[in-house]
Amino acid sequence: MFTEELFQSYKAMGIDQKVLDFSIETENQLLERFRKLDDIAEFNQLKILKAMQDNRVSDIHFAATTGYGYNDIGRDTLEQVYADVFHAEDALVRPQLMSGTHALTVALAGNLRPGDEILSPVGKPYDTLEGVIGITESKGSLAEYGITYAQVDLLPDGGFDWDGIKSAINPRTKLATIQRSKGYAERPTLSVERIGELIRFIKEQNPNIICMVDNCYGEFVETIEPTDVGADLCVGSLIKNPGGGLAPTGGYIVGRREYVENAAYRLSSPGLGKEVGATLGLNATLYQGFFLSPQVVSGAIKGAIYAANLYERLGYSVLPNGTEERYDIIQAVTLGSAEAVIAFCKGIQAAAPVDSYVTPEPWAMPGYQCEVIMAAGAFVQGSSIELSADAPIKPPYTVFFQGGLTWHHAKFGILMSLQKLYEAGLIKL
Ligand SMILES: *Cc1c(COP(=O)(O)O)cnc(C)c1O
Repeated sequence: MFTEELFQSYKAMGIDQKVLDFSIETENQLLERFRKLDDIAEFNQLKILKAMQDNRVSDIHFAATTGYGYNDIGRDTLEQVYADVFHAEDALVRPQLMSGTHALTVALAGNLRPGDEILSPVGKPYDTLEGVIGITESKGSLAEYGITYAQVDLLPDGGFDWDGIKSAINPRTKLATIQRSKGYAERPTLSVERIGELIRFIKEQNPNIICMVDNCYGEFVETIEPTDVGADLCVGSLIKNPGGGLAPTGGYIVGRREYVENAAYRLSSPGLGKEVGATLGLNATLYQGFFLSPQVVSGAIKGAIYAANLYERLGYSVLPNGTEERYDIIQAVTLGSAEAVIAFCKGIQAAAPVDSYVTPEPWAMPGYQCEVIMAAGAFVQGSSIELSADAPIKPPYTVFFQGGLTWHHAKFGILMSLQKLYEAGLIKL
C-alpha cells in the first residue's frame, strides 16, 4: 500500500509519479496471491526451525575449524539439518562445493563409472552441464571417462515423452538427471509433483536408476522438495535459494546415504569422504542463511510475479505469465529491442545496494555467440538470489531476471526498470 510518505520516498529515489500510479493497481491485484506465498514461506520456515531444534543447534556449532577439519560438529550437524529438511538420509553441504555446477559435477562423477549412461528425460541440461557431461567437447568431461549420455526432449506441449524415455532406458542407464528449473531455456519449469511422476515412471522401468534432481532455483518455492517424491539425490547452489543470500559460497548434495557418500569420496578423496573439510568459520552464516531462505525465496517470487504482471499489462510477453503457478524464481520478459533490454538492466543496476552507480553495458562473454548485458549489485559475487538480470543481445530480446533479498528491494528494482524504459521513451504510461 502506498502512503503519501512512501510516495515521496519513491520520488526522491527517482521514480516518476506516472510509474508509481501505473504500478499501484497491479500490486493491489496481487495481494491475495502474495498471501499464499507467505503461507508457503511460513510452512517452510517451520520445517527448517524444527530441523534446527531437533538437531539441538547451538553456539558450539558456529566455531571455526581449520586444517583437515576433522570432527567439525558444526558442519556435520548442518548436514543433518539439511537432510532432515529434505526428508533424506544424508547430505553434503560444503563451502568446498564451489558452485551449482561443481556440486552437480561431484554428484555425477561420484556415482558414475566407465560404461555407465546418463539420461536426461527433460531435454538439454543447463549450459554449464554440457561441458561437464561432454555434450560439447570439454577437457575432463564425463565423456572422456567413458560415460555416455542420452537425452529425451520434452514434447512440444511441455509434457514428458513417456515412450521416448522408455526406449532410451537401457541396461547401461545408471542415472537420470532431472532439471527442475527451466533455467534460461524455453521450456516449463517442473513442479515437484511432476518430477514425482517422472521418477515413478523411471523406477518402474528400472528401480536401480539413480534419480538426481538439479534443484537450482527451486528450493522452498513449494512446500515439498524432490526428495519428498522419490528423488535419490537433490543438488543445488548456496548462492541461490538455500543460502538465503548470506552464504558467501558453497553447494549441497542431499539424498540417499550411499549416493551422498559416493559424492563425498569424489569431493575429497576415496577413504576420506565426509570426514574432512574445514569450514573456516562459515558455519554460522550457512545456518543463518538456510534459516532465512524461505522468506528470501518468497520475496523473490513476489518480485517475479509483480514484474510479470506489470510487463504483461504493458503488452510484453512474459514467461511465466502473470497468473501461472511458480516453480522457480526466474522471470523472463521479452522486450523486443536491444534498447529496451539495456534500459531494463540499467534500472535493475541503479536499484542495487552495491554498485548502483555503475552502468551495465553489453559485452562479449566467453561461451556466448552474441553480446550479453548483466546487471547485478550483489553482496556476494554472482549471487543470483540477489536481484540480478541478464540478457543476450539478440532477438527476441528477452531479459531474464531473478532474486531480491527482500520483496521491497525486488519491487524497487522492477519500478526502476520501468522508470528507465519510460525515460528512454520506450513505454508510454
Ligand atoms: C545456476 C544453475 C546451475 C549452475 O549453477 P552455478 O552455480 O551457476 O554453477 C545449474 N542448473 C540450474 C538449473 C541452474 O539454475
